[in-house]
Amino acid sequence: MRTERQKIIEFLTGKERDVREISQGLGLQEKEVYGHLEHIARSINAQGGRLKVRPSECLKCGFVFADRKRFTKPGRCPKCRKSHIRSAGFLIEFYSHS
Ligand SMILES: [Zn+2]
Repeated sequence: MRTERQKIIEFLTGKERDVREISQGLGLQEKEVYGHLEHIARSINAQGGRLKVRPSECLKCGFVFADRKRFTKPGRCPKCRKSHIRSAGFLIEFYSHS
């Protein structure tokens, strides 16, 4: 039986998704998804893969939350103070075995 974490890994392999898409696609709470992603980020290397994170960005002024360590969506932009934020995207790639 596959675990939720394995399902997320499969869901993100080769296709970038944000947390809402993962949540809806797999029927998980968003806060569960964040917890799983943080674990996956630490453990995926051992499985021969890599989690790529496209940072959140402000849709108003283009500010990119590049230094953000947490995966949760920022509330508002530190530059223009608006809250039109595009949430981060997550993608998993596996290194080829050949
Ligand atoms: Zn902004």
